[in-house]
Amino acid sequence: MKTAICPGSFDPVTLGHIDIIERAARIFDNTIVMVMQNSRKTYNFTTEERVSMLRRVTAGFRGVVVESSDRLLAEVCAEKGEVVVVKGLRAVSDFELEFQMALMNRKLNRTLDTVFLTASENFQYLSSSVIKEVCSYGGDVSSLIPPEVHDEIVNRLRIHK
Ligand code: ADP
Repeated sequence: MKTAICPGSFDPVTLGHIDIIERAARIFDNTIVMVMQNSRKTYNFTTEERVSMLRRVTAGFRGVVVESSDRLLAEVCAEKGEVVVVKGLRAVSDFELEFQMALMNRKLNRTLDTVFLTASENFQYLSSSVIKEVCSYGGDVSSLIPPEVHDEIVNRLRIHK
């Protein structure tokens, strides 16, 4: 029984994240979406809000649960047992950082592997930061974020009224 761990900030969740989670859930028996809380980062949504939004969106997904952690990913994975980290790769720009993180995670936990799924072509350019930027100016992001959490995201991020 292999379990996938999909880590990220999800600040906020986008359809790009959901695409990766859905695809991981088709490959693995169980999938844990791990909302990471890094004390050096500032977020637009609290950990509880990010977890709650992901739970609403993934409620009907087979074998998917949402958890959060403020610890090192390699340690969290070691406690979970037989797990594989699943990450989405967009353009070449993601590659260097993801490569470095995958190697460091394996250095810290020698049985921990990272599997990359290529981003779907519709979401190659999509990131939480792009959503923040467009929403701040009141732009339409309805085709880029899940409908269940659309209003919560848009209301929080709109700053130029
Ligand atoms: P972001 O890079 O948008 O701030 P996160 O740190 O929350 O996102 O990313 C969590 C995971 O989701 C990472 O593996 C990231 O590569 C992946 N991801 C984010 N956006 C997309 C996307 N549009 N398509 C595929 N994977 C994505």
